[in-house]
Amino acid sequence: MTTRSQTRTLRVGNVQIGGGAAIAIQSMTKTDTRDIAKTLGQINKLHTAGCEIARVAIPDIEAAEAFCEIKKNSPLPLVADIHFDYKLAMLAIKYGADKIRVNPGNIGGEEKMLEVARAAKDAGIPIRIGVNSGSLEKKYISIYGGITSQGLCESALHHINLLESIGFYDIVVSIKASNIPMMLESCTQLAAYVNYPLHIGVTEAGPGVSGAVRSAAGIGSLLMMGIGDTIRVSLTSDPEDEVLCAKEILQALGFRVFGPTLISCPTCGRTEIDLRPLVNDVDMFLQGLKDNIRVAVMGCAVNGPGEARDADYGVAGGKGFGVLFKNGNIIKKVPDDMLADELIKLIKSELAPTQAQV
Ligand code: SF4
Repeated sequence: MTTRSQTRTLRVGNVQIGGGAAIAIQSMTKTDTRDIAKTLGQINKLHTAGCEIARVAIPDIEAAEAFCEIKKNSPLPLVADIHFDYKLAMLAIKYGADKIRVNPGNIGGEEKMLEVARAAKDAGIPIRIGVNSGSLEKKYISIYGGITSQGLCESALHHINLLESIGFYDIVVSIKASNIPMMLESCTQLAAYVNYPLHIGVTEAGPGVSGAVRSAAGIGSLLMMGIGDTIRVSLTSDPEDEVLCAKEILQALGFRVFGPTLISCPTCGRTEIDLRPLVNDVDMFLQGLKDNIRVAVMGCAVNGPGEARDADYGVAGGKGFGVLFKNGNIIKKVPDDMLADELIKLIKSELAPTQAQV
């Protein structure tokens, strides 16, 4: 079992971050924030998908005014994402932001950063210092001869010290880089110096499968080192996909449970049942459940019986039939065209009535 770093506890709206709380899932809206209806629509979708904190970009005054309305109707705690203009952070705080994310590399100087921190302190909300390899301050690039993990870490530490200098400790820190080894190195270095909660993610991870794999590699590696209190998967995709990917990472590593786990074999030359449609049917059914169950759908007698026995429910394929398992015991032999129905019927019969209706 991974031992997680003991970090300070803070709250973003009603969500606790750090101090051993469940690793929170964040995402970010991708609409024009000035379009209040569209942005709220996306926040509602994120909420339904299981997102716990949503971040909203505030690029100008109009967006800040829209944020005020969005915040009033949001089902999720909202983080105002600010670059370049500290006055936008001040407005977002006034309009009820649950957290401010600033990039110290582009907020316009230390005095402005401190002004934001004083306002956040008065409002009782945290600040995320978000250092990013794409906008590291020139001085750290010049000291280290380029963008390096040391430079990223030092930038984060400098800004932490700055906030601490005025007694501000409600700090979340992130260091993100699209270069995964660099992101891992800098976050590991940072975690050795501070006990503030860390927000982790692979920035600009990309689209589809590559983005999901890069995110899982970066975020998963840190989580397994005990580092990370909240995560954001950054995909060139709908934000709900980011949430689904984040849930998969957390569940795969055993940090949280959101629903059933489906184990299915990749199929090969030994497969003697039509496994893919069977897996698709079972997967569709399981997606509607929240129960912590393991279901194995396997193609043949090589690994099938072992996996099916090890799961709560399982199927091991044979020639034109499959064997149904429950809690390690064989239930019966079923013709292959009946396997999906029989497995789903078995699971439904075992679950609580509300879940069995799904
Ligand atoms: Fe092939 Fe059987 Fe392994 Fe599936 S369980 S991949 S069918 S050997």
